[in-house]
Amino acid sequence: MSTDYYALLGVSRDATPEDIKKAYRRLARELHPDVNPDPEHQDRFKQVTAAYEVLSDPEKRQMYDLGGDPLGGGRGGFGAGGFDFGDIMDAFFGGAAQRGPRTRARRGQDALIRIQVDLSDAVFGSSRDLTVDTAVACDACQASGMAQGSSLQTCAMCKGRGELQQMQRSFLGQVMTARPCPACQGFGTTIPHPCTECSGDGRVRTRRTLTVQVPPGVDTGTRIQLTGEGEVGPHGGPAGDLFIEVVVRPHDLFERRGDELHCVVTLPMTAAALGTSLQLQTLDGPVDVEIRPGTQSGESVTVRGHGAARLRSSGRGDMHVHLSVQTPTGLDPAQEDLLRQLAGLRDEATVQVSQGTATASGGLFSRLKDAFSSR
Ligand SMILES: [Zn+2]
Ligand SMILES: [Zn+2]
Repeated sequence: MSTDYYALLGVSRDATPEDIKKAYRRLARELHPDVNPDPEHQDRFKQVTAAYEVLSDPEKRQMYDLGGDPLGGGRGGFGAGGFDFGDIMDAFFGGAAQRGPRTRARRGQDALIRIQVDLSDAVFGSSRDLTVDTAVACDACQASGMAQGSSLQTCAMCKGRGELQQMQRSFLGQVMTARPCPACQGFGTTIPHPCTECSGDGRVRTRRTLTVQVPPGVDTGTRIQLTGEGEVGPHGGPAGDLFIEVVVRPHDLFERRGDELHCVVTLPMTAAALGTSLQLQTLDGPVDVEIRPGTQSGESVTVRGHGAARLRSSGRGDMHVHLSVQTPTGLDPAQEDLLRQLAGLRDEATVQVSQGTATASGGLFSRLKDAFSSR
């Protein structure tokens, strides 16, 4: 195979027909002889057009993919064998393949708004009233855009066809092209007396309140889609969708990572050494957490099921309590004496240290850091 049509169009081998059309349209605009008449551009334009001719036709594309040459070697002669001019011209002039007048009704725009929620609302879900600025159908004209008692008028310029046809000379020969009628924007009709409420658009801007259900487990960046709650389209077109993007406010006690919640608890050295029971806050209220004797700084305790809910799934993540053991400071003489006695009893009066890297010592420094730095 001498010519790589995919490479000529700059698309991958699994490109969709839409991708191919887009790629060709872009190249055609750039290389069209009317824009760039020099031989080099014209030559490339011919190659690109040949590539489009093959790849835009499912049968020819398949033949090409199987190693055949659908243009039959007769290069340079376009239009041989069922070459679809319509498609090529559509690609050129950016025209939609539709014929005849187009309808005024179009789908409304999608809208996006961001809401801030507290961590507990994100974890448990909540309901929220929102006020949105949007477009709704105009009551005064029932979305028609016409003043009461008036009606549409057939466009005088295009006689209602919505497009103007034109014979064009191109290197492909004489071709008939159609462009939307500028007098009626392709609608085929005009509105001689627009509705004064909506200026002929068929919709008016308004402020609307709606209630949003925030499902349990949402996180910053989660989008909730409310189908049909966006702006209505002009002239009675269907409404777009409303997307609600969630931003979770930072919490004083907990940092969230996925379904897990993390917090740090500072523990006196004596409690860490002797073990204790702590009452800790969770989003569900207080829970008792056992600290085993001999707990080291940087260790963590897992409180099962007290993390965030799993979005679109069941169950909840865990809460991780990271322990930071505090060395006592500001000892009075009696306390100092007691600690010296303890040191003596533990043969620690002369300090024996074990020296090594952070990794070798079990990641003493890194554990706490790991828990919080990966965000
Ligand atoms: Zn017209
Ligand atoms: Zn109106």
